[in-house]
Amino acid sequence: MPITDEELIAAAAQALNPRQLADGSWVADVGAALEAVDGQIFTGASIGGYLAVCAEQSAFTQLVSTTSPRIRRVVAVWRDPADGVLHVLPPCGRCREFMRVLDQANLDAQVILGPDHTRSLAELLPLPGWHAEAVERSRG
Ligand SMILES: [Zn+2]
Repeated sequence: MPITDEELIAAAAQALNPRQLADGSWVADVGAALEAVDGQIFTGASIGGYLAVCAEQSAFTQLVSTTSPRIRRVVAVWRDPADGVLHVLPPCGRCREFMRVLDQANLDAQVILGPDHTRSLAELLPLPGWHAEAVERSRG
């Protein structure tokens, strides 16, 4: 039986372990969870700094080591240190493209944006791919 969105959010929260590195950047302050099409769950945590790795990408490294890069659902969370409240975060633009490039079918994946709020990756990435439009005529 598939897990609920709430359970996937809880799995992402389990990946949180926020702490600050010597250079001031944060690690594991964002956690993510993915549900593969075969039902397996993978989690990951962010690595901050100027060479940052998003939590979603971290979770994908676990996914591709085990199964196909195609997912059903994805969620990322962050807990506000000021009040301890857990928040769902939308994937950044790089992660949206990253998920699409790994498998075009991921455009059908559901991105959890809140307790009762999901959108397909296609809705969050309405013009996927890189389009080169000529601005001049062929010289040949
Ligand atoms: Zn990202």
